[in-house]
Amino acid sequence: MTAEIIDGRAVAQDVRGRVAAAVAARVAEGGRPPGLATVLVGDDPASHVYVANKRKACKEVGIRSLHHELGADVAREELVTLVGELDRDPSVDGILVQLPLPAGHDSDQLLGQISPRKDVDGLTPINAGLLAQGKIGVAEALELESPDPPAGLVACTPSGVMELLRVSGAQLEGSEAVIVGRSTLVGRPLASLLLAANATVTVCHSRTADIAATCARADVLIAAVGVPELVRGEWVKPGATVIDVGINRTEAGLVGDVEFDSAAARAAAITPVPGGVGPMTIAMLLANALRAARANRSD
Ligand code: NAP
Repeated sequence: MTAEIIDGRAVAQDVRGRVAAAVAARVAEGGRPPGLATVLVGDDPASHVYVANKRKACKEVGIRSLHHELGADVAREELVTLVGELDRDPSVDGILVQLPLPAGHDSDQLLGQISPRKDVDGLTPINAGLLAQGKIGVAEALELESPDPPAGLVACTPSGVMELLRVSGAQLEGSEAVIVGRSTLVGRPLASLLLAANATVTVCHSRTADIAATCARADVLIAAVGVPELVRGEWVKPGATVIDVGINRTEAGLVGDVEFDSAAARAAAITPVPGGVGPMTIAMLLANALRAARANRSD
């Protein structure tokens, strides 16, 4: 078997196009374009690139981007005050604090300043809790057409994975889904989304006794580990759908958490790295900014 390659760039482009069309329709009806505030602290080069890409993507779909850049030595109180002001500003629909923050800053405390309806990263306890409780799920992660305010906002990378699974036609209901990785950012919210889609979900981590045997059960196998090619091709069940969230910079270039060639020889469908999950994260962020604007009733 040679797997179908799931083209994340194309799927992300489709999402961006739908967001752009919805923003244009909103403006044509006399509404404001959504406003997304980004907060970047310190001089981490990767964070600067990520935020620049997010701002460029906003511009391309008609979302207004407001940017705040602060030195790593900014006083904690100043940062808390800024995020509080953005939260009260009616022209700001969504707030994104680029993580990780430099040492000495408490990201939980800062995220705590953001109202759930402005939490475009879906990382505040309320949004994460609604997802964990099954009060929000796949519809909230993927719905773009409804003008109604969403019941909550879902984290971008997990939503992107669900959109790739939807487009690839993977059968989720009744399937065995295995996630390797239990981070707050990816593994945990994905487990909730796959449960919401009626999959039977197993989450592996660094203390899992037999990852190989667990992965071998998976109809849907998702790797979000941060260890290059940890998931071996021979662990993949023939006919499985494999989603590789990992982005690892190695001497050989960017590689995922899955051994691609040998996994592709067994899977029915698989995401490449780069060009798989990566492009989806920004696309889903734009979608969340649009949803956040729909939740902003202060105009
Ligand atoms: P993370 O917070 O470091 O979490 C990694 C998870 O993997 C943890 O749950 C850890 O287990 C588990 N793990 C680590 N080593 C393991 C091993 N040898 N065997 C089994 N499990 C192991 O990472 P993350 O933020 O979820 O990111 C994971 C990967 O996805 C990274 O490569 C990151 O760059 C990438 N990523 C990509 C995007 C994107 O847009 N495509 C977005 C976010 C992240 P414990 O909990 O037991 O420590």
